[in-house]
Amino acid sequence: MSSGNTTRELQRIIESVAASDGAGVKLRRSLGQSPFARLDPFLMLDEFSSFDANDYIAGFPAHPHRGFETVTYLLDGHMLHEDHLGNRGDLKSGAVQWMTAGRGIIHSEMPQQEHGRMRGFQLWINLPAREKMKPAGYRDIGPAEIPAVPLRGGGRAKVIAGTLESDGRSVPGPMQGLATDPLYLDVELPAGAAFTQAVAGGHNAFIYVFEGSLSVGAPAAARTLVTHAAGVLGKGDRVEVTAGAVGARFLLLAGRPLGEPVVQHGPFVMNTREEIEQAIRDYQSGELTRTTS
Ligand code: MN
Repeated sequence: MSSGNTTRELQRIIESVAASDGAGVKLRRSLGQSPFARLDPFLMLDEFSSFDANDYIAGFPAHPHRGFETVTYLLDGHMLHEDHLGNRGDLKSGAVQWMTAGRGIIHSEMPQQEHGRMRGFQLWINLPAREKMKPAGYRDIGPAEIPAVPLRGGGRAKVIAGTLESDGRSVPGPMQGLATDPLYLDVELPAGAAFTQAVAGGHNAFIYVFEGSLSVGAPAAARTLVTHAAGVLGKGDRVEVTAGAVGARFLLLAGRPLGEPVVQHGPFVMNTREEIEQAIRDYQSGELTRTTS
């Protein structure tokens, strides 16, 4: 099994469900809709997409996080992030905001538009126990920092985190060196085009199709994945997909599993019940965002 030629098959499909979060933003939640719908180290994936301001205008007013990372990828629209550390990020189409909550952050994410399409994703990636209480961090990644690599079979791949390993090329994205070693690709394929990507054998991987459809797996065993569903991949060391009749646009996500207990209470994700109770006390007392000297 170390030949480098084991293609990952589509093992499980997690259909997204309609959900509402923040002050009433309508979204589709695949990973994270229940404790059984996670894929270590990924906790949650939300897709938001609407031309109707009523679906997004309320935004996400100030709220806390502790113990994990939130990654916002805006495809269309304009959002403003502000947090208690004084970070201010103007998130526009094609930009990513990578926020490490660590021991605590309080932030808001508010739409800066009243018309037009708001579309994007928020992904939650867990932190290992040893990093859950590290200082909060924040990085704005502009569209120009994200490589958009033309693919040999047509289409392109944007590399947000990890490294594109495809067509014999190796193209690193801006986010590298995290404990979970995440791969985050946004791939667009024309009808019938194939795409392969190397993924470390021990890492968990899934695909989220947001336009068109995709055939996933080695051709003889391929299964179809339709839009707005997360397809969890089985063991192997590479991903192989082919776009359906109208092409496809999808996220490919992979990461090193932590293998640690996950206890979640809303915006706090820790390893034990006691740590969650501490997080709630720290939020109420202001300790959550006290900057250590
Ligand atoms: Mn948040």
